[in-house]
Amino acid sequence: MKYISTRGGDAQLTFEEAVLTGLAPNGGLYIPEKIPTLPSNWQTIWENYSFVDLSVAVLSLYISEDEISSRDLRALVEKSYSTFRHPDVTPVYKISDKLFILELFHGPTFAFKDVALQLLGNLFEFFLRRRNARKNPGEQPEKLTVVGATSGDTGSAAIYGLRNKANIDIFILHPRGRVSPIQEAQMTTVTDSNVHNIAVKGTFDDCQDIVKSLFADRAFNEKHRLGAVNSINWARILAQTVYYFLAYFHARRSLSFDVELQFVVPTGNFGDILAGYYAKRMGVPMGKLVVATNANDILARFWKSGRYEKQDSGAQPPTDGLPVAPVSGASDGKQAGDGVQETLSPAMDILVSSNFERLLWYLAFESAKGASDEAKRAAAGATIDGWMKEMKADGRVDVPVAALELARRDFLAERVSDAQTLGTIRQYFEGRLSYVADPHTAVGLTAAGLVAGQNSALTVQIVLATAHPAKFSEAVTRALASAADFDFDRDVQPPEFKGLLERPRRVIGVDAPKVDLVKEVIEEHVQKPVAQDVSAGASV
Ligand SMILES: *Cc1c(COP(=O)(O)O)cnc(C)c1O
Repeated sequence: MKYISTRGGDAQLTFEEAVLTGLAPNGGLYIPEKIPTLPSNWQTIWENYSFVDLSVAVLSLYISEDEISSRDLRALVEKSYSTFRHPDVTPVYKISDKLFILELFHGPTFAFKDVALQLLGNLFEFFLRRRNARKNPGEQPEKLTVVGATSGDTGSAAIYGLRNKANIDIFILHPRGRVSPIQEAQMTTVTDSNVHNIAVKGTFDDCQDIVKSLFADRAFNEKHRLGAVNSINWARILAQTVYYFLAYFHARRSLSFDVELQFVVPTGNFGDILAGYYAKRMGVPMGKLVVATNANDILARFWKSGRYEKQDSGAQPPTDGLPVAPVSGASDGKQAGDGVQETLSPAMDILVSSNFERLLWYLAFESAKGASDEAKRAAAGATIDGWMKEMKADGRVDVPVAALELARRDFLAERVSDAQTLGTIRQYFEGRLSYVADPHTAVGLTAAGLVAGQNSALTVQIVLATAHPAKFSEAVTRALASAADFDFDRDVQPPEFKGLLERPRRVIGVDAPKVDLVKEVIEEHVQKPVAQDVSAGASV
C-alpha cells in the first residue's frame, strides 16, 4: 500500500515514510492511494476476534507485509494495548436496546487519544530501531525529537505514548498555571528521562507559536530531526478504525434482531469520526455517521450550507438563553477574539478541523470526472489544493452541490451548547444506570438524542465516549452539584488518580514565551543517541 498527499503531486510514500513525515511537504495530508476491501468472509472469520486480533487484521490491509511482517505487527499491537485497563480495550456499555456507549477511555491517560498514541509511539520506536540496526558500526544512530504544545488534553496521551522509548525525546510545552490540576499532574509526574515538560509563562497560543517557529527553523529542525504526533498523522486515524469493527461485532452479538448502527462521535479535529468513515467505506455495515460538535461548530455549519468557514472573530457564543460561564481550569488560554470559543468540552474547541481535508478529498474524488481512478486522483488533488488555498486566503470555501450531497449521504451533524451538555450529564446520571458521562461524551449523547427522532425503528445508536469523567471533574461536578446522591470520589474518581497530585514531578520552567529560551532547554536536555543492534531489533 502506498500513500499520496491530499494536495496532489506524484509522491508515493510507504507507510513508514507517511508515519514519520506526518504532514506532506505541499501542506497536504497523507491518505492511502485506495481504500482496501475486506476479505469476502470477514464477518465470519473476524466475528470473535479480540481488539488485538482485529487491529492486526485491519492494519495489515494498509501496511504491506514487506514493510512490517505480521509477526512484528502483532507484537507492536499487543504491546500498545497491554497498557489498557480493560480486557476488551474499548468496551461497549449498553444503556438500552437502542443505545450503546463505546468507551474509549481505558488507556493510560483516561482519554481516547491513547488508542492511537500508544500505537504511534511503538511504531516510531520500531522504525528507528530498524533504521539504526542497519547502520554501519561507528555511524551516528538516528534520533527523533518530538515537540508539541498542549492545552492539557493531548499532551499526556503523547507523553505516555513515547515515555521510555530509545532515541526519542519528547518536549511538551504547556501554558504554566493554565492547565487543569489533574491534567498538569498527569503530564509532569511522568519522570522518564526522555520526557521533558516545559511550563511556559504565557498562553496556549504562545506555546503553539513557539512550536511552529521551531518546525519552521530549518537548521534546528534538521539538527534535532523534529517530529510531530499531531492528529493528522495517518497512523492515528488507522489505529482508530479498529473499534468501529469491534463495536459492530459486539452489537451484532448482543442484539437478536437486524439493526442499523448509527455511530455518534464527539468531534473536534475530525480524526475519530474519519476513522469511522474509513470503516464504513471498507464495508462495516452502518448508517450515517453523526458529527457532534460543541459551540465551535464549523462542521455542523458545513453540513447545513456546504460552506466550510472559520467562525467570525466577533461571534458571541449562543447560550440557548442560559449564560454559561467558562469553568476555571478547563481553560485553554485561548484568546477571546481569535474565533475559538471556550466550552466545557475543551478537547473539541477548534477553529478548523485539521482532518476534514481528508474527507474533502474523497468528496472531490467521487465527484471528479475522469476516465480512470488515476485521473480522478489527480483531479481531486488539484481541487483540494485550490480549496485549501481559498480557505487560507478568505477563511472560507464553498463546495459544489454534488460534493455536499455526497457528504450528506454519509453524515449528519449537530451542534450542542454547554447548557445542553450539562443537562445531559445530569440526565444520564439520574437515569436507571446512573451513568456518569464526561462533557465530550455528553456532547455525543445530546446529539444522539437530537437525531433520534428521524431514525428508523431498527436504528441502534453507538455513542463514542472519548474521556473518563474524572478527567473533566469541574464540568461533571458542576452538572451534578445538585443531583441527589452524587459523590465524586465514590462515583467517578479512579484509584489511579488518588494521590496523583502529590507525586514527584519533573518540569522545566520557561519564564517568557520566547523561542530562543525553549531552544536552549531543548539543546540542554536532549539525550545522546544510543546504538541499537539487530538482536535488540528482534524484540519489538
Ligand atoms: C481529541 C478529543 C476529541 C475530538 O476528537 P477528534 O478526533 O479531534 O475529532 C473529543 N473528545 C476528547 C476527550 C478528545 O481528547
